[in-house]
Amino acid sequence: MIIGIDLGTTNSLVAVWENGAARLIPNSLGEVLTPSCVSVDDDGSILVGRAARERLQTHPRLSAAAFKRHMGSDQQIALGQRGFRAEELSALILRALKADAEAALGRPVTEAIITVPAYFSDAQRKATRAAGQLAGLKVERLLNEPTAAALAYGIHLRDSESKFLVFDLGGGTFDVSVLDLFDNVMEVRASAGDNYLGGEDFVACVIERFFEHNKMSPHYKNDAGFMQRLGAQVEAAKRALSEAPGTTIRIRDNGADFAMELDEAAFEKICAPLLARLRDPVERALRDAQLPSAELDNVVLAGGATRMPMVRRLVARMFGRLPACDINPDEVVALGAAVQAGLKAKDAALDEVVMTDVSPYSLGIDTSLRVTQASYSHGHFDPIIERNSVVPVSRVKRYFPLHDGQRQLHINVFQGEARMAADNIKLGELLIDLPDGARDECGVDVRFTYDVNGLLQVEATILKTGDTVSLLIAGNPGLLSDEEIAERFAALSALKIHPRDQMENRTLLARGERLYQQLRGDLRQHLGVQIVRFEQALESQDKHQCLPAAKAFGQLLDELERHSLLHPDA
Ligand code: AMP
Repeated sequence: MIIGIDLGTTNSLVAVWENGAARLIPNSLGEVLTPSCVSVDDDGSILVGRAARERLQTHPRLSAAAFKRHMGSDQQIALGQRGFRAEELSALILRALKADAEAALGRPVTEAIITVPAYFSDAQRKATRAAGQLAGLKVERLLNEPTAAALAYGIHLRDSESKFLVFDLGGGTFDVSVLDLFDNVMEVRASAGDNYLGGEDFVACVIERFFEHNKMSPHYKNDAGFMQRLGAQVEAAKRALSEAPGTTIRIRDNGADFAMELDEAAFEKICAPLLARLRDPVERALRDAQLPSAELDNVVLAGGATRMPMVRRLVARMFGRLPACDINPDEVVALGAAVQAGLKAKDAALDEVVMTDVSPYSLGIDTSLRVTQASYSHGHFDPIIERNSVVPVSRVKRYFPLHDGQRQLHINVFQGEARMAADNIKLGELLIDLPDGARDECGVDVRFTYDVNGLLQVEATILKTGDTVSLLIAGNPGLLSDEEIAERFAALSALKIHPRDQMENRTLLARGERLYQQLRGDLRQHLGVQIVRFEQALESQDKHQCLPAAKAFGQLLDELERHSLLHPDA
């Protein structure tokens, strides 16, 4: 049996093809979304999923999230004393999903189809395959996420050539793909996106408005605890507005009471700049695919943030028709992976022309931004090759020294998407001696050339003299070899994994600890006592004590969570 896995940045899901339909498999907590988080527990065992996500706040040094962003790089992610590669952390997620599938199906599972973003490079795809191997899974196929979404909507059931646009707005990223299915071959005709645009930005906009509305002092922004509580309130309000016409955001702090009514229209107005930014990648993808939107057979929504009615309305306006949204947008990719598994079992799977030849990251240098005539803000990242450019690619940008008579220019080369250079990965540096002269006579052309092997050549040419300085940066840092995979497989197998049948109780405890840190006063003390009581009940290992204790403790946490949203300063 082949399982379909959506290995996501925020959440992962597993699904299976059974009796002619795709079905999601719940984890040991009964939930179909497993947070893509890993944490090392106090006894050294590994926790995956919701319990690990709860510990991101209480044990940040022992917990990791969003490691999908590092797939295909050799970045080490520290969990306590030990460093892990993104493949290894992903393997721990895959192992948990495999165990969930085995528990649900009652038999061993050894094969999987795993989904990846359409723009994933060859190195990122290899890393994803390695993660599967490290989890003891034979990766039957890597499937592009938009292709999976289109399969869930039955693109393969159409008779003639079909063209789909997949509009995927997740928590932090936005991806648009234009797909073309012809003769059982699926081609990604174009893919465009915005790495800085997702559901979280809608929350950030409302927070800004909340500050203005309540004329709040900016010093609140330095209070991490306050901002976290406000963020949770706004996230809840955002979700409420997907179901109801209006809601209220309220937060108290040391006697001060701040509130704001929010209805759909006001929410949309606040987020208008974000909605405007959704248009550009759609237009770019259609232009690149050389396809007028009228020729699309279907527009498919994926990603949790497409639940926002304003996003759906925008898509409807842009395309002059309602998008396909009858499948839950968080689940559509995993369900599509299961459809592909079903097709594979019948030997009817789609072939894919994979668009791997793109640069997965933006590549650029650090620059200074002129803020006023005389002052600069330093350390900004200025991309020269934008993420997703088709390789080989060569781009040039012109830079000038900051002052007349400046004799040297220091160029630092970075890869990544963060606004500040220091938050990206540094790849190398170049020092250029400038000729004497006024700043506008001393321009330097910086050319980046990136090839299919991931080699980046940086060339700086001083315009006045024609002199050139260059630097070659080797690509694909450290993909794992077969021997290394075998070694790491053994090392990962030796890790103690928290027992699956105890996950529910462990998650309750992690939630309790997180809530304990959020609460204050009597409630916090009360919770402290209840945590100890629950731990004691668990230690008894007596089912008749444990089960009711877990139920009661879960109810208490639900109540406290509700209470802390309504009375945040309690
Ligand atoms: P994903 O990365 O696809 O799981 O998307 C997660 C994003 O979807 C987060 O920013 C969530 O806040 C957002 N999201 C999930 N459910 C809803 C909802 N009901 N209404 C609005 N946004 C949602």
